[in-house]
Amino acid sequence: MTKYKREDLVNLLPYKPAKVKEAIRLHANESPYDLPEDLKESIFDRVRKESFNYYYDPNCDELREALSGYLGIQPEKIFVGSGADEIIYDIVLAFAGPGREVIIPVPSFPSYETFSVISGAKVVRVPLLLEEDSADCCWKLDVPKIKSQFKKDAPQVMFICYPNNPTGDYFREPDVFELIKDFNGIVAVDEAYFEFGGKTFIKRLSQFPNLVIIRTFSKVFSLAGLRIGYAVADENIIEELYKVKPPYNVNLFSQIAAVEVLKHMDWVEEVKKKIIKAREELKNKLKELPGITVYPSSTNFLLCKFKVPRDLVYQKLLEKGILVRKPEGKEVENMLRFSVGTPEQNEFLAQSLEDILKEHLQ
Ligand SMILES: *Cc1c(COP(=O)(O)O)cnc(C)c1O
Repeated sequence: MTKYKREDLVNLLPYKPAKVKEAIRLHANESPYDLPEDLKESIFDRVRKESFNYYYDPNCDELREALSGYLGIQPEKIFVGSGADEIIYDIVLAFAGPGREVIIPVPSFPSYETFSVISGAKVVRVPLLLEEDSADCCWKLDVPKIKSQFKKDAPQVMFICYPNNPTGDYFREPDVFELIKDFNGIVAVDEAYFEFGGKTFIKRLSQFPNLVIIRTFSKVFSLAGLRIGYAVADENIIEELYKVKPPYNVNLFSQIAAVEVLKHMDWVEEVKKKIIKAREELKNKLKELPGITVYPSSTNFLLCKFKVPRDLVYQKLLEKGILVRKPEGKEVENMLRFSVGTPEQNEFLAQSLEDILKEHLQ
């Protein structure tokens, strides 16, 4: 068997997260709020009338129309995938691959690196700079170092997560702008958490034909289980994504659900406000605890650094039934990432952390 394996994939670990039953899920940045029953019913009503035996719309026309209204962008510039993860996959399949490089500021969303490696590309990781005392933002792009990796004569791909997962906040806008402006390749700006902070590079699309914006329905839209993401870019980029995408990549249920949710933006807005309010409350509670640093966030999660070993905190939380994330990378070595849950879940998290820290901080 060994001789059949791709040598360039030996170091990849299969993504098989442990399933923890009955846990409070604060590890995947999902929304703690499921769709209201009447909204679900409107989705079921429409799905019930569809023929399951036929392939559904391969181009997601109705959803792209609805997104066009939401974004104020022509539908031709919108491309829908089975989750933002598939969009990332398509971007590297279309524009990276063997002999090409993908620049990734780290730590960031792990799929950029994984999918780049699978595409056969070489990954260039550039660590973020951490300025704990900085008044504006603490995690910064190392612009000179990133630019030193730019190649004028060979097309590259670069990912910028804005705001960044797992660090939680936006990078300085002029830094991102400078990188996009000087880059010879495709820049993917991942705005998975756009709705929580409102900053976007979408308005720069007309200026930069090499820019692609990534968005998802998995976070504020509460549809993680249905897998819908999308890209917004110049038609020339969209055309290349259509070349590499699997033919019927988004199933009929998911397309219909996304269209119906977009008709209920008042509900989405309400969810957003609840989560932001809960995030601020959780942040203030955690900041009061001993031996913990809480980083600024424009998302639905908080990154925290601990004075006690993070594995201990992780394990003790798990024993209390709370599942959280240990972000990867030496830059975030003793840190944990907590998704913002319901006020009750957050209260339980804060209380549990207080107990753990008081017991183990000497
Ligand atoms: C959650 C997340 C995604 C993945 O979204 P899916 O649509 O569920 O695949 C993409 N990028 C970032 C930064 C994320 O945090």
